[in-house]
Amino acid sequence: MSRQTIALLGHPVAHSISPALQQAALDELGIDAAYEAWDTPSDGLPGAIERLRSGSVLGANVTVPHKVEAMRLIDQPDGLCELVGAVNTIVNRDGRLHGTNTDVVGILIALAAAGAEVAGKNIVVIGAGGAARAVVVAMRRAGAAQVTVANRTEERARALVALGGTELDVRACSLDLEAASLHAAMGAAHVVIQSTSLGMLHGPDEAATPIPSELFRRWQVALDLVYVPERTPFLKAAEQAGAVAVGGLAMLVHQGAESFRLWTGQEPPLPVMFEAARAVLLAR
Ligand code: NAP
Repeated sequence: MSRQTIALLGHPVAHSISPALQQAALDELGIDAAYEAWDTPSDGLPGAIERLRSGSVLGANVTVPHKVEAMRLIDQPDGLCELVGAVNTIVNRDGRLHGTNTDVVGILIALAAAGAEVAGKNIVVIGAGGAARAVVVAMRRAGAAQVTVANRTEERARALVALGGTELDVRACSLDLEAASLHAAMGAAHVVIQSTSLGMLHGPDEAATPIPSELFRRWQVALDLVYVPERTPFLKAAEQAGAVAVGGLAMLVHQGAESFRLWTGQEPPLPVMFEAARAVLLAR
């Protein structure tokens, strides 16, 4: 059998950590496959999706800016994709393309690994972009009692309220640090999940946290989706208040591990994947 391919569709893709962590996992298990970054501008997306149907392709990851559009081009997006409104993993099953969103599972495993309880608890989600949508769906799946979405642009937070369906009470508020609604939500939260781009390595807001230390409680678990080699400013603020801090690398590796399991049918070698992801981050 010829060497298999797994593709990463995005634009740009050069910065992605996925090729390093996925190739390390494939090599560790002796699977004869190459994980290839296909830099795909929007007008090339339909053609790239068609190439995934080839017998030599196991599947693909989809990243910015194609997570929404790709869902329309595949044959079978699953319920999670439909709920989040985005696909991040495509599996080629005999030329038919199945899609799912492993970010949801990645978030839940990262929280569980840190000992965070979600079922029956109040959660605060900071941000209302694509990542925040996956977080709200994950909280619904895990049986959270209530989610408050706090975003700089409050209107975008309100757009996430419907994601709770009839199962989860989702509320929206402004990320205004003076607002009583944000203070009340933070005071009652068991888990606080940071899903804005604040704190991103080399980004314009690298040194910023959306939530200062005074708003955290010592019993809380704080998860930052942003991944950097050390602690983000958000996680430093949480730790200063005595909260448990969990970095975004855990989610990144666990969502990748879930994709790996779907493409290969094999148990992902997690330590190897963590090591490869850390090495890339440290080299930046
Ligand atoms: P996105 O759709 O562009 O959303 C960006 C969010 O950040 C919006 O809520 C935006 O608020 C907010 N924001 C940006 N600049 C801000 C500022 N200066 N002050 C306050 N809020 C600000 O991005 P995304 O795809 O959701 O990704 C968000 C982050 O999650 C990125 O850092 C990404 O790397 C990370 N992520 C990590 C993983 C992982 O596996 N660990 C997976 C997915 C994403 P407005 O609505 O007001 O503009």
